Amino acid sequence: MFTLPDLPYDYSDLEPYIDTETMHLHHDKHHAAYVANLNDALAGHEEFLKMDVEELVRNLAKVPEEVRTKVRNNGGGHANHSFFWTIMGPASGAAGGQPSGKLLEAIKGSFGDFTVFQEKFSQAALGHFGSGWAWLVSDKGKLSIVDTANQDTPLSEAVPAGRQGKTPILALDVWEHAYYLKYQNRRADYIKAWWNVVNWNEVRKNYETAL
Ligand code: MN
Repeated sequence: MFTLPDLPYDYSDLEPYIDTETMHLHHDKHHAAYVANLNDALAGHEEFLKMDVEELVRNLAKVPEEVRTKVRNNGGGHANHSFFWTIMGPASGAAGGQPSGKLLEAIKGSFGDFTVFQEKFSQAALGHFGSGWAWLVSDKGKLSIVDTANQDTPLSEAVPAGRQGKTPILALDVWEHAYYLKYQNRRADYIKAWWNVVNWNEVRKNYETAL
């Protein structure tokens, strides 16, 4: 059975950039529904219910075909949101600003400087048509920016070639449920605000773990 993880901070901690009501709906309703639907899809398939969700989305091809689409969507939804909560944090704490250490060096190596990276990532998030995610991914230390549709993850072999098998370092949810209450159709404003709550300590750990 998969379970809904608690947020690693309070629902109000991302204010004023991400509002409390959105965090409640996003975590307690949307993420919870992905978990419930995933468990429902895999009822009777014990070997998959025992997996770590990241292992599950890496192995979609092994999932019985009749439930594979449901597992792709809801397993992806569970994996992506579980990850997303961890890479954010209170702007009053360590979040926002710029990363440091090896991660900053890698960003400079791949994009020139941090501001260029930030602009390119924002453009990928803004330019993604419809529901999906923007990602900073690592391929043995080499960084790139990709976007995926719906709840697809770069961990999965289900995404297009060139995007798969990469390790997520940072992610941004651009589904309307992530921002519509506060920002309505202004996705660009949501993206700009979101940078203030990026927890670079966690992103740096993700990068160093993936090396
Ligand atoms: Mn979401």
